[in-house]
Amino acid sequence: MLTGKNMIAGVWRAATEHFSAVDAASGAALEPAFAHATAQDVADACAAAAAAQPAYAALPLSRRAAFLRLVADKIDALGDTLTQRAMQESGLPEARLNGERGRTVGQLRLFADEVENGGWQGLRIDHAQPDRAPLPKPDLRMRNIPLGPVAVFGASNFPLAFSVAGGDTASAWAAGCCVVVKGHPAHPGTSELVAGAILEAIREAEMPEGVFSLVNGTANALGEALVKDPRIAAVGFTGSRAGGLALMGHAAARPVPIPVYAEMSSVNPVVLMPHRLAEAAESLAAAYVGSLSLGAGQFCTNPGILLAVESEATTRFIGSVAEALEGIPAQTMLTAGIQSAYTKGIAAIVEQGATMVGTGAEGSAACGRAHVFTVSGASFRANPALGHEVFGPSSIIVTCADIGEVAAILEGMEGQLTATLHMEQADFDAARTLLPIIENRAGRIIANAWPTGVEVTHAMVHGGPFPATSDGRSTSVGTLAIARFLRPVSYQDLPAALLPKALLDGPGAVLRRIDGRYQVQG
Ligand code: NAP
Repeated sequence: MLTGKNMIAGVWRAATEHFSAVDAASGAALEPAFAHATAQDVADACAAAAAAQPAYAALPLSRRAAFLRLVADKIDALGDTLTQRAMQESGLPEARLNGERGRTVGQLRLFADEVENGGWQGLRIDHAQPDRAPLPKPDLRMRNIPLGPVAVFGASNFPLAFSVAGGDTASAWAAGCCVVVKGHPAHPGTSELVAGAILEAIREAEMPEGVFSLVNGTANALGEALVKDPRIAAVGFTGSRAGGLALMGHAAARPVPIPVYAEMSSVNPVVLMPHRLAEAAESLAAAYVGSLSLGAGQFCTNPGILLAVESEATTRFIGSVAEALEGIPAQTMLTAGIQSAYTKGIAAIVEQGATMVGTGAEGSAACGRAHVFTVSGASFRANPALGHEVFGPSSIIVTCADIGEVAAILEGMEGQLTATLHMEQADFDAARTLLPIIENRAGRIIANAWPTGVEVTHAMVHGGPFPATSDGRSTSVGTLAIARFLRPVSYQDLPAALLPKALLDGPGAVLRRIDGRYQVQG
């Protein structure tokens, strides 16, 4: 079924150079060979996106929403074919990928509802006061409009939910932006299947074909050309810190710089508060090991650092972690590169003098074996490298002298996607001292749960200060993600005949801020 071609605005295009998809478990090359997109392919995709942009942005919101729903239906219709290909390319298990497909179509449908809801337009009307002294006040009306074509970099660790039709693409389309996806080279077959589903939806919904293109390849030059293309207005990225920083550099160095929304690295600190730990050391240990080893630890929200105050309960907890690890099987990692980076990361932790708590079962060369280490608070503070993300099923338990040292370690941490407190009422006073610290460092604060698992909803923030993301004012999950691809425009004294319909006086369809007050009626 697969062609191995790139998809440029509705046309499947071959190339002269190719690369192979790889079976994550065996390392064997998979059929067919995939076309390396050329500089011309990138330029043509961007030109088509720019040409389609005005027509797509001007569509009634009901048609934009219908398009998103149709993409979801077409992805659903791919059924097991999609799951099987994604399993081969990513090494992720069937249940996980079926769940991820549910999340992918669910977020497309959520964004369709959000498009129709219309609150994201941020409509405001300030009526004129021609008689105001000493100067008359003009009539001012504002709304958010799409930024323009968006470049999306598919993530390796979510071949569906953060890839071709994932959260970045869905939120860009919802905002009214055309999208050019740079597919992740670890799952080109999965990408092509989803691109085919999108093309069917484009045709059925009668969308301009430049609303979507997919370019594949394995050279940094491809992504660089995409970010540097003058028609691209913003970038969505999930991946390594080095990759995100490189793209941010290219975007900033353009004659016209553009925003890059990069989600990069996070160690997601988890604090086990003393009273909670004394009550539940064993069950916390089992849940911790489950969270850190889930999906071979290849989650941006993996609990990489756990903080606890030294005590008898902490010793019990560490013993239970060692026991729980014994039952954890090694799992195939997404790519050979990620597996090798994980092995090096583990070696670096050992080199810094961390003590091994235990490991999971050993697996094949393609697998990631779970590892947990422990260090004292003093050692952790003396070795900043221990605070770096090791992408995979590993975590470090930091045993602190007291809650003051926990606070000092949190103070010294870089920006994070999440920070978690396990606590009970007797811990609340201490928790109150930690909350202002973690608010300043994390996008999401979690009580008595584990950070893996990100709900796609309206109040979710999957973001956080650098290096968790390149812009801590944003989220890449949930409906607020749409805001990344919008910009406000104000219309001063524009005649009603020329104003956007949503900004006319009279009953509005959505909540608007009129003369300072939020109301539906004008
Ligand atoms: P990656 O190397 O950052 O690649 C992600 C995407 O960006 C790929 O399409 C890659 O394509 C492109 N890219 C990377 N560097 C680039 C550059 N300098 N210029 C232009 N394009 C560039 O991420 P990955 O392949 O998914 O995994 C590598 C490491 O990233 C992992 O070991 C892990 O440390 C980290 N990672 C973190 C998360 C997280 O959520 N925190 C998720 C995934 C990965 P090309 O290579 O074809 O250029």
